[in-house]
This record gives sequence, structure tokens and C-alpha cells, in this order.
Amino acid sequence: MKIGIVGLGLIGGSLGLDLRQQGHKVLGVSRNPQTCELAVEMGAVDEASLNLASLSQADLIFLATPMEAIVTTLAKLTPHLTPETIVTDVASVKSEIVSNCVPLWWNFVGGHPMAGNSNQGIQAAQLHLFQQAPYVITPLETTPTQAIKTLETIAKTLGAQVHYCSPEAHDRAVAWISHLPVMVSASLIAACETESEIHVQKLAQQLASSGFRDTSRVGGGNVELGVMMARYNREHLLASLKQYSDTLTQLTAYIEESDWSAIATFLQDTQQVRPKFLRE
Ligand code: NAP
Repeated sequence: MKIGIVGLGLIGGSLGLDLRQQGHKVLGVSRNPQTCELAVEMGAVDEASLNLASLSQADLIFLATPMEAIVTTLAKLTPHLTPETIVTDVASVKSEIVSNCVPLWWNFVGGHPMAGNSNQGIQAAQLHLFQQAPYVITPLETTPTQAIKTLETIAKTLGAQVHYCSPEAHDRAVAWISHLPVMVSASLIAACETESEIHVQKLAQQLASSGFRDTSRVGGGNVELGVMMARYNREHLLASLKQYSDTLTQLTAYIEESDWSAIATFLQDTQQVRPKFLRE
């Protein structure tokens, strides 16, 4: 297949590396000439351009720009496409993107490959990033079957595990397991920084080990992505933050009341529930 990728960063570049290895011809478009050069050097694309018209012959196009640029990019892209071209996106929030993209292109299907790392840009792209990762496809009733099937096939060849759901259900689910953790983890780092005794803060920094590394990882990553999660998934993120804050208040009350058995019950429950959220 001829595959186009707009936005050659962590996700776009990683898609390109895998898709080229599978024998697809990959055409990239990004904003900066240096990014285009590097993407070709790294083998993430066969050719790269600043011009969306270079994707006119593509069979399938991934929109992998930051979320705020996806809808405007599609609007600029459509005059160059033939009707058969399938367009998908990789954005981390689906409702707003899908509802704005579908009216712009009949052959659009929303998607979210749920893999990443804390780096960004083409330098961060890596082979096999999507292996064993969930790939959520969020079609509407009107989405052409062929577009859905093609994306499913490509996602499976990346080694990803395909899930189907509505854009709304996706956004609600990722608020809990992706967007809330970013805010909680960032808040943890911010709270630690409020220690007023400078030597205690320094000591804490020296003593921080794997527990802190695990719990702070997603709060110390891509700033732009965190802002986009809050901006585009505002309603669901606020609902999960509110519930989290209520849970913390409850936990604080148990400790204030020295109610150790309530804490034990709470921690027994969370210990039992945790494996349900972790894939093998
Ligand atoms: P990223 O590493 O910052 O890459 C985005 C790239 O898009 C940038 O390197 C930039 O390249 C290019 N770009 C920016 N504006 C553009 C425009 N108007 N036209 C063309 N290219 C443009 O970000 P990312 O992590 O890959 O995220 C990209 C998308 O993937 C987002 O929609 C995000 O929600 C989604 N996503 C991210 C993750 C994650 O964990 N990071 C996971 C799943 C999905 P130049 O400016 O250098 O050309």
C-alpha cells in the first residue's frame, strides 16, 4: 500500500518505521524541513515533504500531528485526495476529533494507538512501539466498512490489539486510565516540591527510587500532550478528577481518625482490583 503520514513525531515516525519494514511505501509530511530530512535518514519514511499535495496518491493516510492541528490539517488535505483514500487519525481524544473530521471526509475512521514514551519528536520514534499495545478504532454508524477493515488489518500487522468502541466510550475510559494518571502523577511531583525544608527536599530527591520513578513517570512527560488531554477531554477528565479528589478526602479522613482497619480494607480492595487493569 501507499501510506501517508502527516506529522512526523514520536507516533507518526514510529508508524513509518514499522510500515516501511512491512514493505509499504511511506510518504511523510511534516512542518519543518529538518524533521523531513531526519525522517528519511532514520528510515521512517521513503519520501518526506512539507506539502500535503504529495499525499495525493496515498491509499491510507494517518494524521499524526498534535491534536489541535488534526482537523485543520484534514481540511487542507481533502482537496488533494481521491475519494477512495482512507484517512485516519491517532489522536488521544476521539469525540471532538471524530465529530469534526467525519463531515470533512466521508472515508474517515478515528483511531488511537495507545503506545508512547515520555519523549517527543522524530528522534523519539522507535520500531515495534505498538506491539501488544491496544489500538482503539472508533467508527460511527456511517463509517465505510472498508475503511474500518483496512485500519484493523494495518493495526494488527503492527502487533497491536484492536478494540472497537464509540468515541464517547473511548474518551470516558481513557480519562480514567490515561488522562487522570497524568494529572495525578504531575500533582504528586508538584506536592513533593512544596517541602519547605530545603535539606529534607534534597534528601527526598536522593532517596527517591523505583516507587517514585513509577508513580511520577507520566506526570513528567510530554507537556503539550497533557494540555491537549485536559483541553479535548475536559468533561470526562473533570469527572474522574472529582471522584479521585473525593477518594483522597476519604482516605485522609481514615488517617486523621486513625482508622487503620478502614485503610486496610481500602488497600485490600485496591490490591484485588489492580490486576483487572493490567494486561498480561
Ligand atoms: P510529537 O512527538 O510532538 O509529534 C508531532 C509532530 O507533528 C511534531 O514532531 C511536528 O513535527 C509535527 N507537526 C506539528 N504540527 C504540524 C502540522 N501542523 N502539520 C504537520 N506536522 C506537524 O507528538 P506525538 O506524541 O507523536 O503525538 C502526535 C499525535 O499522537 C497526537 O495527536 C497525540 O494525541 C497522539 N498520540 C500520542 C501518544 C503519546 O504517548 N505521545 C500516544 C498515542 C497517540 P515538526 O514540527 O518537527 O515538523
